[in-house]
Amino acid sequence: MTVEIICVGTELLLGNIVNTNAAFLAEKCAALGLSSYFQIVVGDNRERLLQTIKTAVKRADIVLLSGGLGPTGDDLTKDVAAEAFGRRLVEDEKSRRHIEAYFAQRGITPTENNWKQALVPEGAKAIPNKNGTAPGIIMEENGKYAILLPGPPGELKPMFTDSVMPYLRTLEDDVIESVTVKVVDIGESRAETMVLDLMENQSNPTIAPYAKTGEVHFRITARAKNSKEAQDLIAPMAEELKKRFGSHIYTMEEEVTLEAAVAELLAEKNWTIATAESCTGGLLASRLVNVPGVSKVFHAGFVTYADEAKQNLIGVKEETLERFGAVSRETAWEMAVGAAKTAGADVTVSITGIAGPDGGTKEKPVGLVYIGCYVNGQVCVEEYRFIGSRLTIRESVVSAALVLLRKCIIGK
Ligand code: ATP
Repeated sequence: MTVEIICVGTELLLGNIVNTNAAFLAEKCAALGLSSYFQIVVGDNRERLLQTIKTAVKRADIVLLSGGLGPTGDDLTKDVAAEAFGRRLVEDEKSRRHIEAYFAQRGITPTENNWKQALVPEGAKAIPNKNGTAPGIIMEENGKYAILLPGPPGELKPMFTDSVMPYLRTLEDDVIESVTVKVVDIGESRAETMVLDLMENQSNPTIAPYAKTGEVHFRITARAKNSKEAQDLIAPMAEELKKRFGSHIYTMEEEVTLEAAVAELLAEKNWTIATAESCTGGLLASRLVNVPGVSKVFHAGFVTYADEAKQNLIGVKEETLERFGAVSRETAWEMAVGAAKTAGADVTVSITGIAGPDGGTKEKPVGLVYIGCYVNGQVCVEEYRFIGSRLTIRESVVSAALVLLRKCIIGK
């Protein structure tokens, strides 16, 4: 089946917000095995939206719409989609009760236009919205589907994953299943070269690489009559990747992030961790705290930006800072050891570098970073050279720190 994604909102056209919903939906649709040939952004304009929906419905089996389900006058998606399918709007009792409960729970009186969100096109299915008031909508006409989703990503994503994906799976006779193999510490080009022969001869399952900051993901996707057959097709390919990438693979589970994998390794060993960060300003600690239940292992995060903080909080020697500078192998070493002592942690990661855009010199250019890792008395420090904007560098540093940390924990 084919799918088209239409994102509605003038602020998207103006570049005021980034169209993350399109990326999210496109990735999920690809994982479901749906083919996508067009993706559209259209402003909050009735006529243009109507034409866009009509054109998409002619071309594709499924049209996904994001945004414009709110209560205000410029939220047109539902009215216009209903018009495109020749339906009138009727009140959905369940959605009205949900809106009532939503406002009652917050002690707010809904305004008249809030009830507009309980209207759905006649014969359509309302999808409950656990995180907001606007229900999603599924409409079908002669084998063509329009699926309307709220714009806020915090509402769209869970609604799509919990309700729309299972629904879309029922539309196909075949089952599409995929496994994501996540690889670190190998550059994108090298990783791709290592599976080029598999990619050239792929049919079912297919294998597709995706580069993330500091990581490469390979998604293996199979189409079959049932889940077991799909898994049987995936298994030999997953085995082959395991053989080729070995300990570079940190997970084969879609939902597991690098920080979650590292936290899991620490928990398995019963080790605690502390971080000592300079140029990343707490970003590493924040990545670790993304993981639910990390309190079992994460003890403390020091943000020691100034030299005095490095000395006073984690005991870096004044002499070291003077002799080698704050951005140096020696300082990273002392930060790692000092953080372990201060926090009483089994494992620490230290980061010191120049995120730019200013502050670089010929000897110590922007992007030069030292990452230290202390594991039960053993310390290693690695030097890195990153390029990019201040934020890109800081994000790359954090990924590199997690990769180094993982290597040190597993003894590589
Ligand atoms: P609401 O009930 O909040 O009005 P809505 O369904 O009407 O929801 P919009 O008004 O179109 O949605 O957008 C609400 C907010 O959702 C936007 O201000 C923006 O922050 C976010 N948003 C909308 N569309 C997208 C998108 N395509 N990608 C990322 N964020 C988006």
